[in-house]
Amino acid sequence: MSAALTVLVIAPHPDDEVLGCGGSIVRHVEAGRVVHVLYLTSGERGSPHHTPEQLLPIRESEAVNAAQELGIGVSDLHFSRFPDGCIQPADLGQVGVVVRLLREVRPALVYLPHAGDTSFDHRTGFELGWRALGMAGSRNFPEWGTDPHWVPTVLGYEVWAAIGQPVYFEDVTTVLDRKMVALACYASQAAGTKGPGQASHVGPAGAHLTGWRGGSTTGGHREAFTVLRLGQVIL
Ligand SMILES: [Zn+2]
Repeated sequence: MSAALTVLVIAPHPDDEVLGCGGSIVRHVEAGRVVHVLYLTSGERGSPHHTPEQLLPIRESEAVNAAQELGIGVSDLHFSRFPDGCIQPADLGQVGVVVRLLREVRPALVYLPHAGDTSFDHRTGFELGWRALGMAGSRNFPEWGTDPHWVPTVLGYEVWAAIGQPVYFEDVTTVLDRKMVALACYASQAAGTKGPGQASHVGPAGAHLTGWRGGSTTGGHREAFTVLRLGQVIL
């Protein structure tokens, strides 16, 4: 197991990286690994109380604060600013942004939303990321970087829909407090800020999924993943 390995988390919106794999991120940082996050959108349509122009800088600022709580360097955050609700796997402009970053950062491990998430942006985020992962390893598309990079290990994380048959569980019991502090940075998404009938996953609800995963396996809190590629074991 090498501490020098680099990890990249692909998040459709700011907060998905914490909800899906915030505890795992802390564990990677504690092991000395560098963790990058690519935000496909900045979630600027995620509140009825702000215009997209108002919300975009708020959510990016929340992402910076959350990253600092997780131990991620601010310079390792990447904001693509694709339009919220319009992640397009068929758009080569968007795909190229992801391919270029994969070839620059050269991660050994990538986290994506799992393929069965019910959120539209998460599903298209998976499709976009998975397509880019294939293209980044090819010698084609030299306009997005001439040094191909095949990511050996790719895991799918869960946010809005549970994985049917998780293959890998990360024990995050000892770092759950760090995950919850990072999640609380997303105040614009907190319970009570959106009014009745709105999802409110920031707050105690943010620990329910890991608690259930722990309760149904070996206790404590666990983040669950699908394994999309397993070419190099670094977990
Ligand atoms: Zn999301």
